[in-house]
Amino acid sequence: MKNIGVLTSGGDAPGMNACVRAVVRYALEKDMRVYGIYRGYEGLIGGDIKPLERGSVSDIIQRGGTILKTARCKEFETLAGMKKAAYNMKVFGVDGLVVIGGDGSFKGAKELFDNFGVPSVGIPGTIDNDLAYTDYTLGFDTAVNTVLSAINNLRDTMTSHDLANIVEVMGRHCGDIALFAGLAGGAEIILIPEKKVDLEDICEKIRENRVKGKLSNIIVLAEGAGNAEEIQKTIEQETGIQIRTTRLGHIQRGGTPSMADRILGARLGVKAVDLLYEDHEKKVNKVVGIKNNKIVAEDYETALKATSKGHEDLYTIASILCK
Ligand code: ATP
Repeated sequence: MKNIGVLTSGGDAPGMNACVRAVVRYALEKDMRVYGIYRGYEGLIGGDIKPLERGSVSDIIQRGGTILKTARCKEFETLAGMKKAAYNMKVFGVDGLVVIGGDGSFKGAKELFDNFGVPSVGIPGTIDNDLAYTDYTLGFDTAVNTVLSAINNLRDTMTSHDLANIVEVMGRHCGDIALFAGLAGGAEIILIPEKKVDLEDICEKIRENRVKGKLSNIIVLAEGAGNAEEIQKTIEQETGIQIRTTRLGHIQRGGTPSMADRILGARLGVKAVDLLYEDHEKKVNKVVGIKNNKIVAEDYETALKATSKGHEDLYTIASILCK
């Protein structure tokens, strides 16, 4: 394949730009033509497609967000929307796509192939790390480091005032941000959707900590694991300890990408271009990811079916170390 398009879709994630840069420059090195598709599938439907050169991706490796912009596009979920997208690809002479996004974006890419035969390679770009076929998604490492930095700051104040703090982080179904940041930040309690914990057990733990002389507690809560206000109210009522809640929200999405995310972006981008380059029949329909530090490729279907990574080992370590 000689002419490819690259788009970012769904939530932005730090490292997307580093990945776009890698896709563009590596493809040009292979004498391919690369088109930037702006605002994800919305731009594909609207024909917001422009050729990219080496210089188009200068000075972006260190920037969070995505220079290609991103969007959530309902129209693309209809056959009529997808038909427009496939038609525009023909008009612009784009043979295949690199789709950088989360599971929704992957479902879209799969549907586009199943219905209109458009080949693509998906790159996991989402801070949540909620794609189980890959050890890490692009943006996760940076997001965890952002949360860690917030935990460090909060701990100074919490320790000085003998207060507890619920730090609410992103993760509706996957608690990886909470688990990794909680373990690395020495949180006393980590609440993730994958592990149901009784509120009474949390209160008991806080009471035990008080008996041990530990008056300040950091509770890292993944948003899908419970309601911060309710948890705060219950703990305050049951233990008499004062709690603050800090919702980190979109702060977790932005910021300069970490070394790990930049390198992951480069490796995944290069692999995606290789798969498209070698695809003479224009039939590639795969995602790339990282497993045991090796870059791997899987079918969309297999990747989307993969169930939670679990991280039992990390959860156990965190439970022991926070005693
Ligand atoms: P994040 O994990 O950051 O939320 P995401 O890629 O999962 O990223 P979504 O909003 O779920 O984000 O999906 C992005 C876009 O993919 C949607 O706006 C829509 O255009 C397309 N999409 C999602 N699901 C489908 C589907 N089943 N069929 C066709 N297109 C879809």
